[in-house]
Amino acid sequence: MTRHAEVALAAAAAMEPGGARAVARCDLLSRWPFSDTRDHLFRPFLGPGHEATCEITTSWMQEAGMTVSLDPAGNILGRYEGLTPGAPALLVGSHVDSVKDAGSYDGMLGVMLGVELVDAFHRAGRRLPFALEVIGFGDEEGSRFPSYMLGSRSVAGVLPPDALAVSDRGGVSLVNALSDWGVDPDRFADAYRAPGEVAAYLEAHIEQAPSLEEAGLPLGVVSSIAAQARYYFTVEGMAAHAGTAMHKRRDALTASAAIVLAIEEIAARGPVDLVATVGWLSTGENSATNIVSGAVTFSLDLRAALRETRDRAASEIFAAAAAICAERRVGHAVEERHQLAGAVCDQMLNEALSGAVRDVAGYEPPLIVSQAGHDAMNIAAIAPVSMLFIRCAGGISHNPAESVLDDDVELALAAMIRFADELAQNPRFRSP
Ligand SMILES: [Zn+2]
Repeated sequence: MTRHAEVALAAAAAMEPGGARAVARCDLLSRWPFSDTRDHLFRPFLGPGHEATCEITTSWMQEAGMTVSLDPAGNILGRYEGLTPGAPALLVGSHVDSVKDAGSYDGMLGVMLGVELVDAFHRAGRRLPFALEVIGFGDEEGSRFPSYMLGSRSVAGVLPPDALAVSDRGGVSLVNALSDWGVDPDRFADAYRAPGEVAAYLEAHIEQAPSLEEAGLPLGVVSSIAAQARYYFTVEGMAAHAGTAMHKRRDALTASAAIVLAIEEIAARGPVDLVATVGWLSTGENSATNIVSGAVTFSLDLRAALRETRDRAASEIFAAAAAICAERRVGHAVEERHQLAGAVCDQMLNEALSGAVRDVAGYEPPLIVSQAGHDAMNIAAIAPVSMLFIRCAGGISHNPAESVLDDDVELALAAMIRFADELAQNPRFRSP
């Protein structure tokens, strides 16, 4: 460890427990050796930065009274027993990996707040009718391997068998990277937690959008995590000389342009949570200034609070594309590349979380649809989930400019403690 990192570590160790310490720890973890790169934060799954992060997080979790292990999917997991040993757990956490050139708080803040939550109960010498567990999912962003959310999908038991058959850009297979890290790839799926082991899941996360900042509020409660789908459209026309008469053309690019505008129009007249993005379009290697376009490929990313809304919009878009292509005498095909069902957060948990925010912050928190995907959407397969959003400056995320206010994070921690206390009073969360 460098002298600089040691000094930072000592400074963080001397800090008082609480939300500001969670922020300071995230700041510390955004530098080498907790990042694989020295000039910016990049903490991919199974890298040296990830390893250093797990080491120091282990010591912080132990200080907070937790028993710590690495689960079979490489997620760091700390457990603080409840009144009855072996009781189901309130699982609290988020992910520890980052994108390239990342901000300090996306994911990590939810893990560090989990540690502070347990620390608060530990210092008070209190145990709850359920265990408290803090999890730091190893892979959420998919920034090293061409996959995503391997950690929470494994815990939720929703990982397809071929999910580990991928390699990073350097040609290192995920299976080898896991073995090198001391994680047995054959046991990866054993991270699964059966329903009943996890009583509820709580994830605190920066909002990654500006709605809280615009409303002047520190915290919000997530109503649902958007269902996502990604498609690739291929439009086949006929390449022709730029001198070709207009009525003789079968132009793949103008047909694609009409489809892109139809997509925008369909999303714009839908509910406000329905969003559609064509973020990438290619006219192919043969395209040129003096050629009528023969073939075009473009992407479509479609999201909505409810899967039904997303799927209805998709059907409408496919019908519009078919009509446009027929009229313009071009062929087309649509390929589905990726689907996430999304998740609706649990009503009862959300009422408890909203009540907790009311108690500590004195206002009714807004219910927010998360257009970004989160680990919570997978954990919803095995447990009721709830998410607390924390205001971030300008809604900026996946960027070193990511920023939160200490006061907001203190309030978030207070609300999380209040939430756990609230559940402890609820018969549904009292173990037999
Ligand atoms: Zn995140």
